[in-house]
This record gives sequence, structure tokens and C-alpha cells, in this order.
Amino acid sequence: IEQEAYQNRHEPACTRDGHRVEVAANLGNTAHAVDAVERGAEGVGLLRTEFIFMAHPDFPDLKTQIAEYGEAFDALAGRPLVARTLDVGGDKPLPYWPVAAEDNPFLGMRGIRLALSRPEVLETQLRALLMAAGSRPLRIMFPMIKDVEEFRAGKRVFDRLQAEIRAPDVQLGVMVEIPSSALLAASLAAEVDFFSIGTNDLTQYTLAIDRGHASLSAQSDAIHPAVLQLIRLTVEAAHAHGRWVGVCGELGSDPLAVPVLVGLGVDELSVTARRIPQVKAMIRRLGMPQARELASLALAQPTAAAVRQTLETAVAAAL
Ligand code: PEP
Ligand code: MG
Repeated sequence: IEQEAYQNRHEPACTRDGHRVEVAANLGNTAHAVDAVERGAEGVGLLRTEFIFMAHPDFPDLKTQIAEYGEAFDALAGRPLVARTLDVGGDKPLPYWPVAAEDNPFLGMRGIRLALSRPEVLETQLRALLMAAGSRPLRIMFPMIKDVEEFRAGKRVFDRLQAEIRAPDVQLGVMVEIPSSALLAASLAAEVDFFSIGTNDLTQYTLAIDRGHASLSAQSDAIHPAVLQLIRLTVEAAHAHGRWVGVCGELGSDPLAVPVLVGLGVDELSVTARRIPQVKAMIRRLGMPQARELASLALAQPTAAAVRQTLETAVAAAL
């Protein structure tokens, strides 16, 4: 299986009954885009741009950022790049952008909230992304969006730059990683081009367990039925508006979760590059009716442990 998965890594991932799911790579370093394509990535589904900023001693200027993003576009050779705007704060501090001490940094100035507090930083980044893209496919998403108000604030900055630069193939979307945005996905879907579900933070905020907690990490399982319900709501709302949905959190490469996510209708899985051949191989072994059944089965469980236990036999039987 391993060898067959690797040999077929550049083929698209279609279920037995012909339903296509895109498989893309998560990246924190644009120099790794070449390797991602080599491993079968159909694009970059999450470029964690804060890691680019962290590699510089101060805010990278426009020219530096254009060169960075340009490197990823060059490697992708026409495949889409989903870039997340700077997601600083919480577990990802940026030394030269200090945030005032907070009791709860995970519930404080981070993600889009922090970015909107200094719009000139966001502006330079958006300008660099649009200029680096040229006519190549660029998807931009804002992190830690809680409702449509924050999306609109980010979009105003984007619209101003795009009116000037006019990159022809750009979509604007949001990360779904706060329960409120999943619950309100219908109102967001009316305005965004796409969603990308960040199951790492979505799990943290749904279960109220710090994602890096030393002793509670075993209880912090993204396959929890409450998280799956939020994913279901997001996909339903998105598809009702003709928008696509990706999953870019760790859950997307969990062997038990892949069939469930496909069954829930997720359109794209973005995973660590080395997992791509395996994830594609798993999708190819599924049929949509079975995947949908596995999703219903998982959603009906009361706990994450019950989901895992149920899926272990059911997934084996379905493949
Ligand atoms: C997530 O929260 O699931 C996500 C993909 O973003 P990050 O892990 O970078 O916070
Ligand atoms: Mg996140």
C-alpha cells in the first residue's frame, strides 16, 4: 500500500465513485514548496505566513515579502496558493510585535484582531501577496475570524489594494477555528469565497483545552463529535452558497478522520507534505455512500473515544 500510494502521488484523489477531493500541503516556509509538489501536493492549502515573519529580525518589507511569496508561486507552477495573513499571538509570539501582557493570551490580542490593530502591516502583506501572484491563483484567508464583522474589516483593506493591483485570480476567505464562525457560517458564506477549517484551534476553543497543554493533551482530540458537528454546519452552509471548504488542521491527516471529512463533504484537505500520498490513497479506497455513513456514525457518538472506537472497525469494513 505504502509503495503504491507513493507511486500514485501525482494522480488526483478521487473516491471509487469519482468524487474528487483536493489534497494540498501546509507550509511554514516557502522554500519547502518544491518538496510539497514533489510529494504530490495539488497546491498549498495553508501558508502559515507568521513563520516567514518569525525568520526575520524585523517586519520584512514589501520587496522581501514579494520575493518570499513569489518563490512559492514559482514552485507551484500554476497550482493554487492559500496564504493565511499574519496569525500572531497566543502560541505564536512575534518578538518585534509585542502584545501587552494578558491573563489569557489565547483569548486576547491575536490573529485578525491584532492584525487590524495595525492595518499598515496587513496592508503591506496583502499588497505583497497580490503583487507576487500576478495572474497566478491566489487565495487569501484571515485567521481567527469570529464573525462577519471582522471579515468585512479585513476585506475593506483588501478591496482597496485589489482595486489598485487587480490580480485576476484571487479569492478571499476565512479560517473557521472559533466555534462562533462555524455556528454563523451561513452569514459568513454569503460574503466569503471559501472556508478553511483550522481544527487545531477549533478543538481548543470548543473543548476549552489549551492545544499545547502538557497533561490534558490526550483529552484534546479533534475527532470529538462536537468539533465534527461544527465542521458539518460549516460545510452545509458553505455548499448552500456554492463556496468550497478545506480542512487545514491536523485532523485532515488522521486516518480515521479522513473518511469522515470526505463524508461530510469537505472539498480539500491540506496536510503536512509527507502525508499527502497516504491521504490521497485513503480517499481512493472510499466510496461516497460509505463515507457519508461513517460521518453519520461518528456524529452520533457522545465522546471522542466513542468516535475512535466506533470508527476503528467501521472504517476497516468500509475500505
Ligand atoms: C488550526 O488552528 O487548526 C490551524 C491550521 O492553524 P494553526 O495550527 O497555525 O493555528
Ligand atoms: Mg489556528
